[in-house]
Amino acid sequence: MVDVDAVVVGSGPNGLAAAVTLARAGLSVHVVERADTIGGGARTAELTLPGFRHDVGSAVHPMALASGFFRRFELQRRMELVVPELSYGHPLDGGRAGLAWHDLERTVDDLGRDGEAYRRIMAPLVHRADRLAQFTLSPLLQVPRHPLTTVLFGLAALEQGSPAWNARFAEEVAPAMLTGVAAHAIQRMPSLATAAVALTLGAHAHARGWPVPIGGSQSIADAMADDLLAHGGIISTGVDVASLNDLPRATATLLDVNPRAMLDIAGDLLPHRYHRRVERFRFGNAAAKVDFALSGPVPWTNAALAAAGTLHLGGTRREIAQTEAEVNAGRHSTNPYVLVSQPSTIDPGRAPAGRHVLWTYTHVPSGSEIDQSEAITAQIERFAPGFRDLILASVGTTAAQMQRNNPNYVGGDISAGAATFGQLVARPVLSTDPWRTPAEGLYLCSSSTPPGPGVHGMAGYHAARSALAHEFGIHSGPSLAIGG
Ligand SMILES: Cc1cc2nc3c(=O)[nH]c(=O)nc-3n(C[C@H](O)[C@H](O)[C@H](O)COP(=O)(O)OP(=O)(O)OC[C@H]3O[C@@H](n4cnc5c(N)ncnc54)[C@H](O)[C@@H]3O)c2cc1C
Repeated sequence: MVDVDAVVVGSGPNGLAAAVTLARAGLSVHVVERADTIGGGARTAELTLPGFRHDVGSAVHPMALASGFFRRFELQRRMELVVPELSYGHPLDGGRAGLAWHDLERTVDDLGRDGEAYRRIMAPLVHRADRLAQFTLSPLLQVPRHPLTTVLFGLAALEQGSPAWNARFAEEVAPAMLTGVAAHAIQRMPSLATAAVALTLGAHAHARGWPVPIGGSQSIADAMADDLLAHGGIISTGVDVASLNDLPRATATLLDVNPRAMLDIAGDLLPHRYHRRVERFRFGNAAAKVDFALSGPVPWTNAALAAAGTLHLGGTRREIAQTEAEVNAGRHSTNPYVLVSQPSTIDPGRAPAGRHVLWTYTHVPSGSEIDQSEAITAQIERFAPGFRDLILASVGTTAAQMQRNNPNYVGGDISAGAATFGQLVARPVLSTDPWRTPAEGLYLCSSSTPPGPGVHGMAGYHAARSALAHEFGIHSGPSLAIGG
């Protein structure tokens, strides 16, 4: 006897995407979440002062626009995603800045001597961005549906992932821009994995853009939860699942947790050989976050940066590669790479009138207990003198705290497993259906499975489709559309 068709442990974007897909197929679904609020890495809360709404995890959502799950779900009809004219900015000393406009040609024009080199690497991918998204958001073991796009992407990744990555550029700005995006991978660079991230996210910057959600990333999680509840689903919060015995009996159990937690929760059911393969899965370097409440907008030396949804700080390509190498070697850099989002310049409702929230994080060694507030403030001051005087309040979240807040992020690894090339292919094991475990009815659906980190819901969608096929004999995907 089962109590429910499917149980989902964890209400992150992947857990909710899985739950929505299963409920839309007509199944009874129960989501169980340890935190008091839903959303996992897509939550928004008043972290500093009343009226200042900060994104706890994700802030900017290129993958939400690229995701096949969210397109089927018609996310953009359920909530507002604003695409800034300036996808991201990359300040350099002396008031210079790389400006990645949504419009590729405008970006090329601004890059002067390196404009043509930048166009040659980006334009083929920008023009095939939807095909690129299909490829990068699918399991890498599948036969590519668009071979030309895959080949063009592969050749560009081989170049930008090799020591020859500077060969096409004459100046500092264009390579710095690509490096700022590559560093999202939290890896030593150049490497194939960092190049793949630079090219994928870089192409989306000029294709559908890098949108900021009105109301914060919580709006994305809430849109999915609303649809789940409307289709009979149940969500329980404040329940930390330690064992399958804590859950209602179900035909399918989908875990939006990391592979290590899966072994704790359901290890008894998993064969020894699979257990050993999963134990080889490695977690990577970490993020430490600082959220600021500000009395005014950031006074960037380069005034154009006021329009950017996202900024990458840390200086030139050489500087950022050096910084990431230091973190990879287990050290805290004195010249940190800092990811910045200034959502209240796009969504003024995030802060009281005239005030602003600023979202920042930097990379640190796994498990770091060191608060990065001063290091990040100093790096912002380098490109925006006077920033310090605007700070009304700030909250630092160390890497170790990141894991205490959400155990998926072991040691503060917000990718829930190092995003190396090997681990993007074998995530957490090499398989054509890596979401399905050898235990009957047990699935892993978190970002520790393909296609990896980001708010795209695709890991949850793939896991749910596998569960529908194998446990319920449902082989076609349900409609996820509004009213469908
Ligand atoms: C600081 C930060 C910044 C980020 N920035 C971006 C960004 O700008 N854009 C972007 O696309 N992505 C970003 N990401 C990554 C993105 O948020 C994650 O890749 C995404 O949330 C992963 O979704 P998920 O559903 O796999 O896991 P999560 O979102 O981590 O959700 C997992 C859920 O499971 C719950 N859970 C875990 N264990 C248990 C248990 N034993 N019992 C019950 N519940 C459990 C957790 O509480 C959590 O709610 C960021 C992440 C962080 C942390």
